[in-house]
Amino acid sequence: MQHPHPNRTSRIAGFHTMTPRERLDRVAAFADLAPEAVDRLSDFGNLAPDLADRLIENVIGTMTIPLGIATNMRIDGEDVLVPMATEESSVVAAVCNAARQNRDPGFTTSVSGNLMIAQVQAVGVSDPHAARLRILERCAEIAALCDGCDPVLVRLGGGFRDLEVRVLDTKGGPMVVTHLVVDTRDAMGANAVNTMAEAVAPHLAAWSGGRVYLRILSNLADRRLARAHAVWRTEAIGGPEVRDGILGAYHLAEADPYRAATHNKGIMNGIDAVVLATGNDTRAIEAGAHAYAARSGRYTSLTRYEVTAEGDLSASIELPLAVGLVGGATKLHPTAQTCLKILGVTSAERLARIIAAVGLAQNFSALKALATTGIQRGHMALHAQNIAMMAGAVGDEIAAVAAVLVERRQVRMDVAEEVLVAMRRG
Ligand code: NAD
Repeated sequence: MQHPHPNRTSRIAGFHTMTPRERLDRVAAFADLAPEAVDRLSDFGNLAPDLADRLIENVIGTMTIPLGIATNMRIDGEDVLVPMATEESSVVAAVCNAARQNRDPGFTTSVSGNLMIAQVQAVGVSDPHAARLRILERCAEIAALCDGCDPVLVRLGGGFRDLEVRVLDTKGGPMVVTHLVVDTRDAMGANAVNTMAEAVAPHLAAWSGGRVYLRILSNLADRRLARAHAVWRTEAIGGPEVRDGILGAYHLAEADPYRAATHNKGIMNGIDAVVLATGNDTRAIEAGAHAYAARSGRYTSLTRYEVTAEGDLSASIELPLAVGLVGGATKLHPTAQTCLKILGVTSAERLARIIAAVGLAQNFSALKALATTGIQRGHMALHAQNIAMMAGAVGDEIAAVAAVLVERRQVRMDVAEEVLVAMRRG
């Protein structure tokens, strides 16, 4: 039967085989898009349409978000300019401010390694504990199978490193879960280890006597931790009261998941922005970070704050950071490549270390603002401009309306509309 409104069907046969422009026309007809909206969507910005169309499916355009640079960062004695892609105001400024208050000596960082974990799930194993040992006895064979999947990685010094076999008691009965631990060098490594897990799976089924289902990496990359620490001198941050306010904010995040979620969200504001700017997988990083924050069984803060013997504020962060310089969009997206060049990184490890430092800087600024003036004051200047634009201000009107909103301490849409009308009346 003919659909009553032929354009209003989501069943579009062959949509994936169309060009981005053909798809856009179909979407425009479906959603009744104005010609200006269609024009804007057909501008692909700094990502070539052909490339965008190859990166994901059913492409009609690109979504452009601002790219800012965090200044002042000194990491392991080296000055770094950090590109950050985010739509949220104050995120870049927060990193700049935290780093300005800690230029000397800046941030010290390290990693635990480049090791990713792939999991293979075996079920229906009648003797799971003996099966575990049978698998462990095949370690050398498993190593050869894994390395055989990726000669490029092996040539670069990566490849299979370790084998773990766990017996889990689940609602579906016992499961034998094999972990392949693989050094993925400068790749995030998801595809690399997934391929290995698939290659090993039939053997694990035979050795365990069970059936193998899932074969995929774990985003809880706890053998790929990045760490950063820094000391903010109490006198540089406004005195002991500010220091103690920050400590109090941390203590709440440490004790309370309601606060920890927001505390860690702030950390991820900084981390995701660099992850995205470098073409890495923000969801993989988020999943790993939050799983790590809950590793004790209770969700808690990813950072820690203490007082040094000298009375200064010592801050640290540790979290899984599986980022790469090759693979996924990192190598393909020209902006990601330029961001890596700005960062001056030549290894995934260095990138992870910088990102950890950015997360810590972000967190310090957020806690300092919360413990002193409140978060809204810093947010207000940019937020007021957003509100002014939402109220219809254009060009010079944006800053003028925003200034009035901030001055009146009334950053609200209705007030912005009122101010704009008055301003236009002269
Ligand atoms: P990839 O397979 O595209 O690239 C990695 C490969 O590049 C290696 O296997 C190696 O053969 C080669 N290589 C060349 N130079 C290298 C170097 N210097 N260091 C290491 N390897 C080098 O990508 P990947 O990193 O295996 O996978 C990343 C992608 O997988 C991301 O796009 C991610 O979004 C996606 N992904 C993620 C998940 C998840 O997080 N759960 C699941 C599936 C896929």
